[in-house]
Amino acid sequence: MSTITTINPYTQEELKTYELIDNTVLQQKLELAEAQFKNWKSFEIKDRRKRLSKVAKLLIERKESYAKLMTEEMGKPLAQGISEIEKCAWVCDFYAKNADDFLADQLIETDAEESFISYDPLGVILAIMPWNYPFWQVMRFAAPTLMAGNTALLKHASSTTECALEIQKLFEDAGFPEGCFQTLLVSHEQIESVISNDIVKAVSLTGSEGAGRKIAEIAGKNLKKTVLELGGNNACIVLKDADLDKHIATMAWARMQNAGQSCIAAKRFIVVEDIYDEFLSKFKAKVESYVVGNPMDDKTEIASMASVDLAEEVEAQVKKSLDLGAKVVLGNKREGALYHPTILENVTTEMPVFKEEVFGPVAAIIKVKNEDKAYDMASNSRFGLGSMVFTKKVDKAKKRIGDIADGAFFINELVKSDPRLPFGGTKTSGYGRELSKEGIMEFVNVKTVYSSK
Ligand code: NAD
Repeated sequence: MSTITTINPYTQEELKTYELIDNTVLQQKLELAEAQFKNWKSFEIKDRRKRLSKVAKLLIERKESYAKLMTEEMGKPLAQGISEIEKCAWVCDFYAKNADDFLADQLIETDAEESFISYDPLGVILAIMPWNYPFWQVMRFAAPTLMAGNTALLKHASSTTECALEIQKLFEDAGFPEGCFQTLLVSHEQIESVISNDIVKAVSLTGSEGAGRKIAEIAGKNLKKTVLELGGNNACIVLKDADLDKHIATMAWARMQNAGQSCIAAKRFIVVEDIYDEFLSKFKAKVESYVVGNPMDDKTEIASMASVDLAEEVEAQVKKSLDLGAKVVLGNKREGALYHPTILENVTTEMPVFKEEVFGPVAAIIKVKNEDKAYDMASNSRFGLGSMVFTKKVDKAKKRIGDIADGAFFINELVKSDPRLPFGGTKTSGYGRELSKEGIMEFVNVKTVYSSK
C-alpha cells in the first residue's frame, strides 16, 4: 500500500487519496522529532502550558469544522463530534493547569543530605491510534506526553487521515515548535522500523487486541515501553433494585454511543431475573426511540458505522450467535455501513456476542438468577476495561469492587473517561493508564536523585 484513499461511510463517496511517505522522508521526520526533543524539553512548564492552552482555545474555535471532518471520515453524528472536540479542549486545559504539580520534584527523606525524585521526559514517543474517536484518542495521549517535555509521532488509522493531518496543524498553529508533534502517513510494515529505530523511546497504542499483540511483540523485542489500550467487553450488571426509570437511558446509551464503536461500551447486560422483563421492555423502548440515519443531520443519534466491512463483521458475529440460539428482540438489519441498533436475548457464554468484542450497536442480554451469579458472569471475560452496576444499594455494591478485576467500576453510571481519573484496562484489554496524574507518569523517567556532602 503506497496510498490511502478515505471514504465517507454513510454516502460511500471517496473523499481523498494520500501518498504514504517513503523511508528517507520517514527517517528525516524521526530525526526532526529527536532534534526538537532536545529543544522542547528545556522549555519551562509555563511556556509549554501557554501553547497547550492555545490548543484548547483553537479546538473550541474550530469545533464545527473538526466535527464535520470526523463525520465525513468515520460517520460520527455531527453533534457528538462537537462534544468530542470540547472534551479534547478539556483534557488540554487539565494538563496545562496540573502538569506543574504532577511533575514537581518529590522530596524523600533518607540518610542523604537531600534526596528526591525528578520526572524527566523520555524523548520521542510514538502513538498508534484508532478511528473511533479520531481527535479524543490522540489528544488524551498528546496533552500529557507533550506537557512532560516529550515529542510525539502519530500513526493514525488510515480512515481518519485528514483528522491526523489537522491535528498536526493544530499543534503547529498553537505555537508548538516544528517537530514537537508530527503525523506519519506510513504502512504497518514501516511502523515496525519506527518502533525499532533508536530514536523512538516508547509506544502508546489504542486499538484492537490483535494490534496490541503485534505492537507489544515488536516493542518487546526492542525493549521499548508500551502503553496498550485495547478492546473491551464491558458488563452492565442490573440488580433487582435498579432504578430503571432513572437509569435506563444511561444504560442504553452505554451500549449505543458512537454506533456501538466504543471500547468501554456496555456490551453484555447481565440482568437478574426478578427485574428482567421490566428491564427488557424499558430498554427496548429506549433503544427504539433513537433517531437513526444521516450523521450530518443534527437530530441523528445513531448513524452508520465507520465502514461497510466493520458493519459486516458485526453482522457475522450476530449471525453466529443466532445460530447458537440467541433471539432478536430488536434490529439486526444492515444497510451498507448502517447497522441498526440491535438487542439480542437468550445469550449464552459460548456465543460471539458474549465472548468476543462486538464493535457495533448490539446489546447482548443475559438473564441470571441472582446478584452473585451476576458478578460471576460479569467477570467471565478475557477483557478487563470496566464494569458497571445499577442498584440502589450503593454501599453494598462498593463491597464488590474487588470481585471485578477490571480497570474501572462504575455504580449507577456508564463507564466513561474523564481527564481527572485514570483510564485503562487489565487482562487482554491491555496495560498502563492514560489521563490523570497516572497518565502523565507513563512517559517520564522516574529518576532518583541523591546528594551528600
Ligand atoms: P485496529 O487495531 O485495527 O487499529 C488501531 C491502530 O493500530 C490503527 O492506527 C492501525 O493502523 C494500527 N495497527 C493495527 N495493526 C497494526 C500493525 N500490525 N502494525 C502497525 N499498526 C497497526 O483498531 P481499530 O479498528 O482502529 O479500533 C477499534 C479497536 O480499538 C477496538 O478493539 C476498540 O475496543 C479499541 N479501542 C480501545 C480503546 C481503549 O482505550 N482501550 C479506545 C478506543 C478503541
